[in-house]
This record gives sequence, C-alpha cells and structure tokens, in this order.
Amino acid sequence: MRKNIVAGNWKMNTTVPEGVQLAKEVCEAVCAAQDLKCDVIVGVPFTHLCAVKGAICEKMGLAAENCADHEKGAYTGEVSAAMVASTGADYVILGHSERRGYYNESIEMLKTKVDLALAAGLKVIFCCGESLDERKAGTHFDVIKNEIAGSLFHLDAEAMGRIVIAYEPIWAIGTGETATADQAQEIHKFIRGILAEKYGAQVADDTTILYGGSCKPSNARELFAMPDIDGGLIGGASLKAADFMGIVTAF
Ligand code: PEP
Repeated sequence: MRKNIVAGNWKMNTTVPEGVQLAKEVCEAVCAAQDLKCDVIVGVPFTHLCAVKGAICEKMGLAAENCADHEKGAYTGEVSAAMVASTGADYVILGHSERRGYYNESIEMLKTKVDLALAAGLKVIFCCGESLDERKAGTHFDVIKNEIAGSLFHLDAEAMGRIVIAYEPIWAIGTGETATADQAQEIHKFIRGILAEKYGAQVADDTTILYGGSCKPSNARELFAMPDIDGGLIGGASLKAADFMGIVTAF
C-alpha cells in the first residue's frame, strides 16, 4: 500500500531560529491532530537540518532540498548525501525545477545524485514537470517521461521503492496558478502507467506520486481526492504552520 505524504519545501527561506520555530509549530500540530491520513515531512535548507531534527518528533520526516553529485572530496561548498543522512534526515528532494533551471542540473547529473542519495540510505523525492511552453507545444508527456526514465529507470524495483515522485508543472510553481485536479490526475495516471510498463503493476501501485504547484488549503482537498494523487510537495504554503496543516488535514 502506498503512503500519502505532504512534504514542505521551504526553499531558501527562514533563518535557523525561525526554521526551528516553524518546525516546532508544525510538530505540535501534527502531534495534536487525531487520525492523520498522511505522513508529514519538512524539507529544509542544509543549515537547518540538525536543529530541525532536534525540534521535531518521530512522527515527522525530515528532508534536505538537494545534495551533491559527488561522494566526497574537494568540492568547496557542496554537501554530500552522506552528510545529509548523518543529520538524521530521511529524504532528499532532487530534480526540483529551480535546481534544473538555475543550476543546470541535467538528467544525467540527477541520476548520479539519486544513486548517491540511495547509497547513503536516504529516500528521494524526485521532482519532474513541464514548462508552460512545453505544455502548449503538447510535449509535456514526453518531457516528464524523459526526466523520470533518464534519472530513475536504471534503478531496480527495490530501489524504486525508496523513490517518491513529485509532479510539479513549472507554470504552477509559486505562480498562484494551480493545475486543475483533472490536469494533475491525467499526468499522475500517466506517470503510474510508465512505472507499470517498466516495473510492473505492483511497483507502480506502491509508488507515492505527489502534486506540487501552488497547492494550498483551499485546493488540496480536490487534488488529493484524485485516485493517483497521493499528497503534495508544498512550497509557499509550507512557510506558515496553519496553512501547511490546512493541507495536511485535507486528506
Ligand atoms: C515547490 O517549489 O515545490 C512548490 C510546489 O512551490 P509552491 O507551492 O510555492 O508553488
């Protein structure tokens, strides 16, 4: 049975004390909530990982927002997957469109990062999604298939079990424009289909596929009601505990 997950992606927001405060507020709300229907993860900057780990309880998961594409060595300023894992983090977010776009992260580089993350014992939240131009040109299915196949399809079925996929249409990230529930469901079903072709129905059925892109308390319920949408990767709305919890409790 696949898990429902709501994961925050704080991006480059909050100082360490602010982040600890936010994490504590989320954790208190998670602990007070009865009968939550999803796992809750906070994705935080590298600098915050240890402090946030100390501020949350075992009911919550912790993610880094990136890791290096090398195991270790002379890469000044980089943070390896093993370093991330040593903070107690459970997940790393890889392939976010901001990293693909601003930092030229290629399909090949992400394949390497996925391997290093899994080797370090982390689970991966792997992001994919098309730009507005690609959607208008009708190439969005190909773009998504290439991103997933190119960075993940060398994995065996056991390793795929440690991957969460996040579909994030670039035109919906931070824009206030959300994909409709039907648009998102169409892509999630497509993703599950390509997973089934490659790994069989069981792996496809067991893979958690999140939606990301201006998800908020007011639209989460409709999105999460779709059969192939198993939760959300949440940017802006993860920066206020009340908004984030409004999404967590939408299941
Ligand atoms: C994101 O960047 O992963 C994201 C989904 O952002 P937002 O919710 O702000 O659109």
